[in-house]
Amino acid sequence: MTETLTNRSLIDLDRDHLIHPVASFRGHEAHGARVLASGDGMWLTDIEGKRVIDGFAGLWCVNVGYGQDSIVEAAADQMRRLPYATGYFHFASEPTIRLAAELTALTPEGLNHVYFTQGGSDSVDSAVRYIVHYFNAIGKPDKKEFIALEWGYHGSSATGAGLTALANFHRGFDLPYKWQHHIASPYPYRHPNGHDDAAVIASTIEALEAKVAEIGADKVAAFCCEPIQGSGGVIVPPVGWLKAIREACDRLGILLLVDEVITGFGRTGPLFACEAEGVTPDFMTTAKGLTAGYAPMGALFMADHIYQAIADASPLPVGHGGTYSGHPVAAAVGLEVLRLYREGGVLANGVMVGERFAARMEAIRSHPLVGDVRYRGLLGAIELVADKDTKAPFAADLALGDRLSQMTWDNGVIVRCFANAVIGFAPALTCTPEEMDIIFDRVQLTLDQLL
Ligand code: PLP
Repeated sequence: MTETLTNRSLIDLDRDHLIHPVASFRGHEAHGARVLASGDGMWLTDIEGKRVIDGFAGLWCVNVGYGQDSIVEAAADQMRRLPYATGYFHFASEPTIRLAAELTALTPEGLNHVYFTQGGSDSVDSAVRYIVHYFNAIGKPDKKEFIALEWGYHGSSATGAGLTALANFHRGFDLPYKWQHHIASPYPYRHPNGHDDAAVIASTIEALEAKVAEIGADKVAAFCCEPIQGSGGVIVPPVGWLKAIREACDRLGILLLVDEVITGFGRTGPLFACEAEGVTPDFMTTAKGLTAGYAPMGALFMADHIYQAIADASPLPVGHGGTYSGHPVAAAVGLEVLRLYREGGVLANGVMVGERFAARMEAIRSHPLVGDVRYRGLLGAIELVADKDTKAPFAADLALGDRLSQMTWDNGVIVRCFANAVIGFAPALTCTPEEMDIIFDRVQLTLDQLL
């Protein structure tokens, strides 16, 4: 199709042919697409010329903002030189090797091996496959059960969707599988003793111990969690929670898989959220900020002891792989993004502007509709309630997310509007304090319109 499409025909073609992720098919047909045309820094422009500020970094991924020419050049340069190289049959390419080496020098100590994936779901899927393979390799084939958290999101692949605990991803898909189990989330605002960090931490540990006892320690392979639960509504556990989880997993003889697909790459301040807690998981999944959305790529980090056990177990091939694992163009993008985070000052800016983010989050706390405010680094959410004292939910209205999303769009800002009356924020780490004010002013205006 080469002719120029009018805006109207683009929207019609979208409605007729494009299946959108996590959308009601009929709902999308009725709504029609918001077609984005270009991006620059914190700003997006749609095909009608409407400019909006992106308070959500695309889908918590464009951490370096839009329009970074050095990334475009790195990708173009690699594409001209070598657009594709397989990782199969002992082949490799330079950017992929360099990215593996640079990343493993920055991950928590002991995570020295990396398998590149096509995104977050593939990272989680790959982790589950390697964990199963590992326990078979070390002669513990009964350890196949996985435990994750309520409100957790781990992607929507056939395997990872079962670790996800959000109802939208289970409805109509016969999930989760029998080997996937969930325990209560460390959700301070909805916890009976939420003001007491130690009590919230103890609740998760007790729930994990109870679940392992119920299933049998000899059958549980791993516990899987996000350091901060993103798609469940940015649920921020107390400081020390992840460290306590690491200790519990060791005590219980189960592996720890930490899903840093959102929290990785500076989103909460340090490069990885594990770092802040001094935790080395057995597996760590990443994606999103790895390439800042400029190319699809994820990375699964594997601890040395796992790698060595698999390596020693058999000389036969480990049958897990993908055509695009370690794609050289995505790797070249990843290398330049990593340079921007560190030498380009993006991580430092994220920490600096995090102060304005925190100040604006605290200021919005007094709004009559805001029941909870939670954040770490540049990841945060507000939870709307009908009554601040009783914490009664704002509305039992399934369409609320869509309505809020339309209102914020009309007011010129993109944030994530969850169905459970939670508004999530994840601006690019390149945001300026003035742009942060624009994001919050526009959200505040939307809240006032709801009164
Ligand atoms: N894990 C977490 C924590 C995520 O937030 C996501 C996506 O939002 C995924 C996994 C899945 O990543 P992807 O959408 O790249 O498959």
